[in-house]
Amino acid sequence: LAERLQGSIQKIRGKGKVNEADVKEMMREVRLALLEADVNFKVVKSFVKQVSERAVGQEVMTSLTPGQQVIKVVKEELTELMGGEQSQIAVGKKPPTVIMMVGLQGAGKTTTAGKLAGLLRKKHNRKPLLVAADIYRPAAINQLETIGKQLSLPVFSMGDQVSPVEIAKAGIEKAKEEHHDYVLIDTAGRLHVDEELMDELKQIKELSSPDEIFLVVDSMTGQDAVTVAQNFDDALGVTGVVLTKLDGDTRGGAALSIRSVTGKPIKFVGMGEKMDALEPFHPERMASRILGMGDMLSLIEKAQTNVDEDKAKEMEKKLRTASFTLDDFLEQLGQVKQMGPLDELLKMIPGANKMKGLDNIDMDGKQLSHVEAIIQSMTVKEKEQPEIINASRRKRIARGSGRPIQEINRLLKQFEEMKKMMKQMTNAQGKGKKRGGMN
Ligand code: GDP
Ligand code: MG
Repeated sequence: LAERLQGSIQKIRGKGKVNEADVKEMMREVRLALLEADVNFKVVKSFVKQVSERAVGQEVMTSLTPGQQVIKVVKEELTELMGGEQSQIAVGKKPPTVIMMVGLQGAGKTTTAGKLAGLLRKKHNRKPLLVAADIYRPAAINQLETIGKQLSLPVFSMGDQVSPVEIAKAGIEKAKEEHHDYVLIDTAGRLHVDEELMDELKQIKELSSPDEIFLVVDSMTGQDAVTVAQNFDDALGVTGVVLTKLDGDTRGGAALSIRSVTGKPIKFVGMGEKMDALEPFHPERMASRILGMGDMLSLIEKAQTNVDEDKAKEMEKKLRTASFTLDDFLEQLGQVKQMGPLDELLKMIPGANKMKGLDNIDMDGKQLSHVEAIIQSMTVKEKEQPEIINASRRKRIARGSGRPIQEINRLLKQFEEMKKMMKQMTNAQGKGKKRGGMN
């Protein structure tokens, strides 16, 4: 997708003003990106319309191409749509502040209750009490107690023979007695929204008058999450949303849909099963994630200012036809060097940071000149077919360049790594035909 975007960017660069056709072209990609990220169709439609109106006719900033300008608007609007940073938690007029966790079964209520309690104590120096009011799911009470032990936080429970409403009430009483300033009520969920569940939650709400009702939503559920959120909000009036399991490979389109359908702020995101894996919600990061760009655009910006595009294209063709030689490697290194530290660049490419062997490629100017010396000590044939470089050739190259043999070995290995990596990126991102080049 990034390539598609980039392709469009390249087509319309070099103009002074963003015109309607530019915007249309870019918005087609954006629309796809949003739909791919599982953003609600209606939300996409109105969003695209709104952005298009704003983007057309904009002066293009000198530092940006029209395409980048449009993307900038898109990102800003997405960020805006998802609200500012809202990770603060209400404080009740009279302690304890009551927080009720609601959501479907398996969404992450119990886990998030624990994480939040941990956060309240650690970051805000609070004294939270966890209340086990899910009497239906087998072992739900145990689960919360285990979490409590793990965090050294108290858990209030009354077994599964007392009604959740009673448990919530008693839990709050207990918190008052023991001077807890926060009470987190872990409630039951069902696989689907149903009347009975909602009635029970409504009763708990009535009796405990919570200061916050956090709806916990599994980000992997995509579109369904929106309906669920709507139902819970209609019945209970939630005050905030926690989006869990963002550590998975979901693009997080649910965040945008939920926010724009319910109007309720996303307060936190769950980033893993561990108790410290809860983060404040960053709308801007989410916007990038939804657009699926990683920091791809800043990478494109960087690359466009520094790399000769024709050369980049030529390199890529060579890579694909596997005629990428050590000479090309050297040239590539030189170009990459102009863009800044290689490892930093690689971090911006989604997925590339996971490939091993790359950390060794980072090099300073001195190393680069060593590499240069080594490569220049090779014969044309060796440069084109490094696999023929055997032990005696290595020795000769070492003598010629004045570099130790280990360095020659390392370089050849790096070259192979780079070749492999570039190929992987070409395959992973190209999805076939239309690749504008990663550079
Ligand atoms: P509940 O039924 O809503 O109380 O859900 P649980 O808290 O029991 O969580 C269900 C499962 O999701 C558990 O295995 C959790 O460890 C897991 N889980 C919860 N939040 C996250 C998260 O942010 N990331 C990941 N990877 N797993 C999570
Ligand atoms: Mg639970």
